[in-house]
Amino acid sequence: MFWSRSFITTLKEAPEAAESISHKLMLRSGMVRMLISGVYSYLPLGYRVLARIENIVRQEMNKTGAQELLLPSLQSIELWQKTGRDELMGETMIRFQDRRGRKLCLGPTHEEVITELAAAYVKSWRDLPFTLYQIQTKFRDELRPRFGVVRSCEFIMKDAYSFDRDFEGLNQIYEKMRQAYEAIFKRCGLGFVSIKADSGVIGGDLSHEFLVPAESGEDVVYRCKICGMVMGAHEAAINECPHCHKDMEKLNALEVGHIFKLGDKYSKSLGVKFLDEAGHQQIVQMGCYGIGVSRLIAAVIEQNHDGNGIIWPKEVAPFDVLIVPVNVSDKLIWDEAVRLHDELGRQGLEVLLDDRDERAGVKFKDADLTGIPWRITVGSRWTKEGKLEFKNRRTGTVTEAAGGDPAAYLD
Ligand code: ATP
Ligand code: MG
Ligand code: MG
Ligand code: MG
Repeated sequence: MFWSRSFITTLKEAPEAAESISHKLMLRSGMVRMLISGVYSYLPLGYRVLARIENIVRQEMNKTGAQELLLPSLQSIELWQKTGRDELMGETMIRFQDRRGRKLCLGPTHEEVITELAAAYVKSWRDLPFTLYQIQTKFRDELRPRFGVVRSCEFIMKDAYSFDRDFEGLNQIYEKMRQAYEAIFKRCGLGFVSIKADSGVIGGDLSHEFLVPAESGEDVVYRCKICGMVMGAHEAAINECPHCHKDMEKLNALEVGHIFKLGDKYSKSLGVKFLDEAGHQQIVQMGCYGIGVSRLIAAVIEQNHDGNGIIWPKEVAPFDVLIVPVNVSDKLIWDEAVRLHDELGRQGLEVLLDDRDERAGVKFKDADLTGIPWRITVGSRWTKEGKLEFKNRRTGTVTEAAGGDPAAYLD
């Protein structure tokens, strides 16, 4: 990809309305654009990151045996009345009436829809267990949309739902999902904690939240200054570490995932029943598992940046390598830049070539801002000594190398 033909639009300053560091950096690097309060467009650079995060989520979900599907955003209020959540959701749910007079909402979550679906197909113990998931847009009329994609009114969630014949089965899939969540957040380059949590309007017996310590977070975790144990705090403040009895520090955190043992809360009211081996009717035990996919982008930036911009962890970076020819009108420099671009692309890397006719300083600033893990500079050292510069965005280390296979210098 050549920068001049891409839709990458960087800004020197963040708009004043941006409060958190991730929101500022997402606006400055041209990842998102606000349409109206709480509603964002993902521009190509932001969409690349979103797609890579979705890919990680998809891979780890598929590993658990869960199957992907896609449920509708348009839902009938009638369905929500059957579980009593029509009222519970209150003004968070975006409701309206269509021309046929049907009362509808835009799905803030999908327990009702998936349970209605399962009820239509599950008949016998042989139909169980199974887990379904989707990566889809959710709508919530948040009281205070904030920090860009952290709390928006239209956002992307991965939601999975498990169906088992008994609690033993539910416990097994819950544990598998917990492990899948840990794998996902690690691959996204995040430090996180999981804590037992309040089940809120989703309901059920037990739930765990996954929290990422971050300045703009609206949740709180406590961390021991000595042993690093972190703990959630939905009740009172935790002043002393239960492990080493030293002081705890209070940190803000972002909720990036939430998993629930629902039990029969939805399967009972929407009738997901099956006949066991003895011909007795039983109720299915359900779990549900959410990840804020779009909020994850902000969480990654909150934990991976410096004064100059974003520092993308390898697996979620919009591009793997940025090639910077310092002078695009020098033929020797230009030819080598294009050779690197083509060669690395052939090897399966996502490569961006900054072919703009700009000063090197401008290009280097944008390189730091957009946070691509590797920058290869083709400059006067190339024309004079045949040397390229490989700069690691995270460590700042610069390695000089001759041409040849550039991939040898990238880890
Ligand atoms: P919060 O406490 O931040 O309002 P929640 O508990 O209401 O989140 P859940 O219903 O548990 O959210 O949804 C699953 C995940 O979806 C959350 O863990 C979070 O990462 C993400 N999420 C929830 N609301 C939003 C939002 N308005 N914008 C972006 N992501 C969100
Ligand atoms: Mg909420
Ligand atoms: Mg919450
Ligand atoms: Mg939650």
